[in-house]
Amino acid sequence: MNEKEVVLIIGGGIAGIQAALDVADQGVKAYVVESTPSVGGHMAMLDKTFPTLDCSACILTPKMVDVGRHPNVELLTYSEVKRVKRNDRGFEVKIVKKPRYVDVSKCTGCGVCARHCPVEVSDDFNAGMDVRKAIYVPFPQAVPLKYTIDEEHCIRCELCKRICESIGAGAVNLDQVPEEVNLNVGAIIIATGYKPFDAKRKKAYGYGKYANVLTALELERLLSAAGPTAGHILRRSDGCIPKRVAFVQCVGSRDSHHGYPYCSRVCCMYAIKDSILLKEHIPDVDVTIFYMDIRTYGKGFEELYQRAKEEFKVQFKRGRVARIYEIPENQNLIVRAEDTETGEILQEEFEMVVLSVGLAPPDGIAELSKILEVPLDEYGYIEEADAKVDTVSTKVPGIFVAGTALSPKDVPDSVSEASAAAMKAVTFLRRRK
Ligand SMILES: Cc1cc2nc3c(=O)[nH]c(=O)nc-3n(C[C@H](O)[C@H](O)[C@H](O)COP(=O)(O)OP(=O)(O)OC[C@H]3O[C@@H](n4cnc5c(N)ncnc54)[C@H](O)[C@@H]3O)c2cc1C
Ligand code: SF4
Ligand code: SF4
Repeated sequence: MNEKEVVLIIGGGIAGIQAALDVADQGVKAYVVESTPSVGGHMAMLDKTFPTLDCSACILTPKMVDVGRHPNVELLTYSEVKRVKRNDRGFEVKIVKKPRYVDVSKCTGCGVCARHCPVEVSDDFNAGMDVRKAIYVPFPQAVPLKYTIDEEHCIRCELCKRICESIGAGAVNLDQVPEEVNLNVGAIIIATGYKPFDAKRKKAYGYGKYANVLTALELERLLSAAGPTAGHILRRSDGCIPKRVAFVQCVGSRDSHHGYPYCSRVCCMYAIKDSILLKEHIPDVDVTIFYMDIRTYGKGFEELYQRAKEEFKVQFKRGRVARIYEIPENQNLIVRAEDTETGEILQEEFEMVVLSVGLAPPDGIAELSKILEVPLDEYGYIEEADAKVDTVSTKVPGIFVAGTALSPKDVPDSVSEASAAAMKAVTFLRRRK
């Protein structure tokens, strides 16, 4: 295929998926390079989405299936962009497919291998609150639904290989090596997303030290019926249902000392959403949200905030949390905050504390920016051509950006930017032609 009809999308979260679908629907070939074994990104980890509280997987899974089946889309999962060279026709791109040690053309996704694999590993997808096997799919709706061997933990016992041969598939290949894919493309869309702020950097909150302090992404997995506790909210310390839960807002956001100075835009709304979901799971739970300001700027957002207060009786307390202490006898937590308006010190006991972690630039973005020769902004996100009127173009002609690779934002805004970037990329190709 002529490079004038090809767009490369880097990152297969909701923004990358939407960009690929919109490029492909215009008759242009789209390649999606995703570094993990499946497309889906962070949205696949969410239970429900604000402001409508729709099931996240019910919205995302059909899009993942569509992008996996679209005749104009090719998914290069478990792959990374290693080199990009500009020429007068576009970009020459070198991609490396990491070895899955499973032949995807033969793997049926039956999962028999994983049942026999003797190695259990902490499950990243379930925020480390569950285990998976060394041969695995990240989650049951993965696209492609093909197994991958985790090289770091596999002990090469070959049990999976033997069982896979015995069922006639013969997909396991422990001698697989990295594979190089070279493409000529006319335009590129960066959709590499975000990583959640590392809560351990806020030492005063005891994350990683106190069992019952968790991040909001971990709570999303606990809330999910497909999560590690099948949707039951249980304390890590003793497996009991918590009856008093606190949310601490702006963890890593609006904080130049231990995090990022910007507002992450989604944390107020996801805390409101999760507080309502907690009340639905545990009707007699008391939920308190410690906040600096509540920011509900989107369509239907303020209404959900009012419902949380009036219908669900969630308590909102204005206060910057200074410190969290654990009571060793019962592993409850004391939250100490200062009311930012009155200066009064608030101190309360809770059975679980959820840290509303902000959004940070993803790992590897600095290296990718060098490969693409696309500058980053002062926080480490991809810099747009013009923050007012050219928001999904980068400073490099032919390279566009969408979603949280550009700045923190929610799913609806990520999807809108993805469609805009797809339109710009295809227009760029057609103008060149
Ligand atoms: C706790 C929590 C709750 C949330 N709840 C909601 C909600 O209810 N509603 C809502 O609208 N939003 C919510 N959000 C925000 C939502 O997660 C984001 O808006 C959305 O996931 C952004 O999608 P994205 O595609 O930009 O990024 P991501 O979902 O991060 O996807 C990026 C993809 O790119 C891949 N990638 C990264 N680097 C590379 C590379 N170099 N090469 C190849 N691939 C790469 C990643 O593996 C990933 O698959 C929540 C966020 C958090 C933290
Ligand atoms: S590797 Fe073999 S046993 Fe495992 S899921 Fe694929 S086909 Fe099934
Ligand atoms: S070879 Fe590795 S992945 Fe396969 S069963 Fe043994 S430990 Fe598990």
